[in-house]
Amino acid sequence: CGIVSDNSKETKDPAAAPSQTAAGAKNNGKIVIGMSMDTLKEERWQKDRDIFTEKVKELGGEVKALAANGDDATQMSQAEQLISQGVNVLVVIPHNAEATAQIVEKAHKEGIKVISYDRLIKNSDVDYYISFDNVRVGEMQAKAVTDKVAKGNFVYIGGADTDNNAHMFKEGAMNILNPLKEKGDIKIVYDQFSKDWKPEEALKNMENALTANKNNIQAVVAANDGTAGGVIQALTAQGLAGKIPVSGQDADLAAVQRIAQGTQTMTVYKPIKSIATKAAEMAVALAKQGQIADAGKKVNNGKIDVPSVLLDPISVDKSNLVDTVIKDGFHKLEDVYKNVP
Ligand code: BGC
Repeated sequence: CGIVSDNSKETKDPAAAPSQTAAGAKNNGKIVIGMSMDTLKEERWQKDRDIFTEKVKELGGEVKALAANGDDATQMSQAEQLISQGVNVLVVIPHNAEATAQIVEKAHKEGIKVISYDRLIKNSDVDYYISFDNVRVGEMQAKAVTDKVAKGNFVYIGGADTDNNAHMFKEGAMNILNPLKEKGDIKIVYDQFSKDWKPEEALKNMENALTANKNNIQAVVAANDGTAGGVIQALTAQGLAGKIPVSGQDADLAAVQRIAQGTQTMTVYKPIKSIATKAAEMAVALAKQGQIADAGKKVNNGKIDVPSVLLDPISVDKSNLVDTVIKDGFHKLEDVYKNVP
């Protein structure tokens, strides 16, 4: 499915020496990749870390991964720690799209290149970016919801304001919702980000939306499965769960169970294996050759056009659960349908 790069052959030679960075020298020729993560909270991130680590190992390297629990200062100091340990390449999943530009600067001072993973580091000279087509993710979310209901009062429950992805998901959703709004078919009666992607923030936002509109709401576009969980909790309390379409993202187990049960309309499946494997190949190629040949797309981060790899997301609802997440081995059939009579 177009995921594995053509240069995987070159990067599979563990004997090849890492590029001549100060970092390379510190590790006695061993390739070490640093991974600075925002969080391990959502189900996906552990998979990202584990698959990435496994693939780098297979390619002859080693990964040092640290997660910052959503704290900017912690992410900064963990990145500094990795830089001073002499990693060859730093892979960053930013908590804060803007603040992490400083990490790029510090890494570059030591001759270490930086890959922005899943989320874009903004206004920086970050070397590469790998993610999914995030505008497309937002479009899929709104499309699935408007396929169910295309009239009435809509609520948008976004992700973390500090995460560039949250803005792209929203941009995508609005690509679908705005024309309906202009036609007068729908009204967006509530539109809020959820601090740090917290389900409890989404729950509060959804409660406020319901109260402010006396429960007169016909559809909810929620930016991921965690926030969808908060939304559905608020709907359940009002006896509305399953009566209003709700979107999501990540194909978390709890979310695909809700899809099977009928309280969540859809999720966006982003095969973690694809992004983590490809990122590992990129990181090792970068360590060995100082560049990546096939990052052919460009994404502007406010300062430069970042050479990028963008993978395809997959829209999942009740009708294709089995053919997507289950067939792919992302979840087991018996787990997904556990609570379905
Ligand atoms: C990721 C989503 C994830 C969210 C919260 C986003 O940047 O793309 O997959 O649900 O962060 O961690």
